[in-house]
Amino acid sequence: MKITDIKVVSFRTHADRWDIGHGVPLPRTELMQTVASVETDEGVTGYYFGGGSHGDQEGLNVVDQALLLGQVRSLVIGQDPLDREMIWKWMWVGNITENVASVVDLMLWDLAGRAANLPVYKLMGGARDRVKAYASTYPNIGPPEVYAEHALACKREGYLAYKIHPHYFWDPKTRQPTPGRPSNIAADIRTCHLVREAVGPDMVLMFDPWGTYHTLEEAIKVGRELEKLDYYWYEHPMPEYRVESYVRLARELSIPILSPEIAGGGVFTRAEWILRGASDMSRIDVVRGGITGARKTAIVCEAYGLRCEIHMAGWGNLQVCGATSEDTSEYYEKGLLAIGVDYDAPHPYLRQICDRLDPDGTIAMPTAPGLGYEIVWDYINDNVITP
Ligand SMILES: [Mg+2]
Repeated sequence: MKITDIKVVSFRTHADRWDIGHGVPLPRTELMQTVASVETDEGVTGYYFGGGSHGDQEGLNVVDQALLLGQVRSLVIGQDPLDREMIWKWMWVGNITENVASVVDLMLWDLAGRAANLPVYKLMGGARDRVKAYASTYPNIGPPEVYAEHALACKREGYLAYKIHPHYFWDPKTRQPTPGRPSNIAADIRTCHLVREAVGPDMVLMFDPWGTYHTLEEAIKVGRELEKLDYYWYEHPMPEYRVESYVRLARELSIPILSPEIAGGGVFTRAEWILRGASDMSRIDVVRGGITGARKTAIVCEAYGLRCEIHMAGWGNLQVCGATSEDTSEYYEKGLLAIGVDYDAPHPYLRQICDRLDPDGTIAMPTAPGLGYEIVWDYINDNVITP
């Protein structure tokens, strides 16, 4: 089998979003989504929806599309689409932008699954058919009391775990952006307390200030509170380009530090963090090296007996969970969520969402071949954006 073409279709769609700068819902926001495809001489095609900074939820921008349809397309045409390892390595050495290289890998996995008539996780080797999910909030969903209300609502819906993205670049009192003043430590600590009080001692809670604590002292101060409140992990508290700060933080605190989540370099950077003892749990997703890179990261962690928690929602991340034991990758991140945002509304371009929560707090693996998409081509064709 040979790759004959790579294409990208951009189309208009809509979904509920949250206005992080003003702390209000943005219902039915118009969005640009992309479906990238890889075609072959045997008539099998692989697809991937998304590729922007939040994975499946945003399309590829014009610069990324130009790279995919220019340099990358000319590299892979004529290659065997089942030579994913060779192509993956080629993209890294060729210094192809990570999310664009990831889109290639995701399309190739979808194609292989379709060719074999198997979901991707079964093709990799199934480890489980269900994964525990946590409700992952938007940042700035309101003052601390709103987080407590939202966490309780999620618990009633069946979630076993809840993760707070607290207040950043936003003042929960004035509800206005605070550029240059990223963190609100007092409000964050109060949020962590109120959420624990609301949901009781048994619900698993996680906390992710997304790198906005700019001093080690701030990060330690909040971390000590999380320890008292029995939070499960403390994610990406400081900027990840300061690795030595993380070495010191991990040494100082007993709560597991979960990082790096957004640092570039995929599995290679994660391996270095492990050697340095800069975090206790690692983190990866499929737009930082594709499914191939995420699986490699999980395997490195497994060898050291470390957790590798999968970052972000979406079809590819879910498939990686399905191929990885719960002992290594325990949770799936469902979100982002907020009161007034209907996350579960189906995307008009797909027949179903990948991550419907069952009442026991788990999500079932997709059963359709490849990544699991059932594509609504009529909708896409009616909403194409012509360049
Ligand atoms: Mg995070």
